[in-house]
Amino acid sequence: MKKSKEIIIIGGGIVGLCTAYFLNKSGHQVSIIDKSDFTDNCSYGNAGMIVPSHFIPLAAPGVITQGLKWMFNPESPFQINPQLNANFFKWIWEFYKASNTKRVNKAIPVLKELNTASLALYKSLSESEEFNFQLNEKGLLMYFKTDKAFENEKHVAEKAITLGLKTDIISGTEVGKFETEIDLSVIGAIHFKSDACFTPQYFMKEIINVLKTRGIKFIENTAIEKFDFKGNVLKSVRSNNNTFEADEFVLATGSWTGRLAKELNIQIPMLPGKGYSFEIETQKVKPKICAILTEAKVAVTPMENGLRFAGTMELGAFNSKINQKKIDGILKSIPKYFPQLSKNDFENIKIWSGLRPCSPDGLPFIGKSKGFNNLTIAAGHAMMGMSLGPISGKLVTEIINEEKPGIDLSLLAVDRFS
Ligand SMILES: Cc1cc2nc3c(=O)[nH]c(=O)nc-3n(C[C@H](O)[C@H](O)[C@H](O)COP(=O)(O)OP(=O)(O)OC[C@H]3O[C@@H](n4cnc5c(N)ncnc54)[C@H](O)[C@@H]3O)c2cc1C
Repeated sequence: MKKSKEIIIIGGGIVGLCTAYFLNKSGHQVSIIDKSDFTDNCSYGNAGMIVPSHFIPLAAPGVITQGLKWMFNPESPFQINPQLNANFFKWIWEFYKASNTKRVNKAIPVLKELNTASLALYKSLSESEEFNFQLNEKGLLMYFKTDKAFENEKHVAEKAITLGLKTDIISGTEVGKFETEIDLSVIGAIHFKSDACFTPQYFMKEIINVLKTRGIKFIENTAIEKFDFKGNVLKSVRSNNNTFEADEFVLATGSWTGRLAKELNIQIPMLPGKGYSFEIETQKVKPKICAILTEAKVAVTPMENGLRFAGTMELGAFNSKINQKKIDGILKSIPKYFPQLSKNDFENIKIWSGLRPCSPDGLPFIGKSKGFNNLTIAAGHAMMGMSLGPISGKLVTEIINEEKPGIDLSLLAVDRFS
């Protein structure tokens, strides 16, 4: 039995909450501190997809060329907001260096293993007495309107099959057999059957309830700004009017992790990737399976209370402002795939925005920094944070308990860009 420790987790997104769960389960006393009130962050309004199929990292060959083309279209799903600081240039340089076949091939098995293990953890949570949430395990459909995109993704589908993921390539005429309650205007689809989805804000509320029942302390509206350390031991963390001491600390602060780590002299290049989502209640289009409108880069998820659309990546946008041109781009693309939907169906939508914590190589940071014995970092999950929440929490727990992590973490090393 490991010694029970006092542990402070900074950040109450999916990564911080899952970490609290697994640490508490292994006998530790846990407190979570957040600068907001635990009712909204990137982990609430996302598309809720749990994705073993997303084994290609964001930094991949061809992404830079495609990104540059999109830069000139204000309604495109991608934008870079350049910043005049060293973090931004470091990030871009590291992204460029990571966008090659050799690096991608190394990342593929790691991402697949992390996502598969995380889905298994979600399954066991959904089957446990403690949790009450629905996991939709019907897979994920990628819809295509163009031969070019379909052909490109067929290679990914073939790779998925070699990795042991159940995957079907579906021709245009067969697609209707899957989604009987929608008219689809597509030339084909790929069904990644090993994926799943859920309603993220329901899960967030549920895990907070579970953690409160387990006695975990929630400290809200408290932004951590400073750290007190002696040698390689972190002694306490400070907000503007409070100091918090503990044996161990976990930094799970999503997009803000780079800024906080700087206070500890740890270099973590991180950029926020702003995205949007909105929901409609409609009887016209009732998909059973979550989907990606591939060319438009829009995610569509059937949620408990409606149909959610999510998309856009505005890299470097450290704010929650809504860029209407990007929303127009999403709205224009939807009827191209779902001809039953028109502008009128989206009249009173409420737009949510969230900041994906993006690392330059598309892999999260999970581990201890060489500079500190009692600080573990778990951040930078970009487009897969919801999917990777449980496995991140489990790995952090193994690290703090000084157990051999169940997955090789060398590619996720916290100091890999130092
Ligand atoms: C449009 C969109 C769609 C997405 N769809 C999916 C999807 O389908 N599947 C998927 O897996 N992922 C998806 N994602 C990505 C996913 O939402 C994120 O990767 C994930 O939510 C990140 O979780 P996190 O816990 O690391 O960070 P966050 O959820 O951002 O939480 C970080 C927390 O740290 C707190 N914090 C920051 N600084 C401090 C400080 N100094 N002191 C105290 N607290 C602090 C913040 O207040 C925040 O609550 C999507 C994202 C977007 C935007």
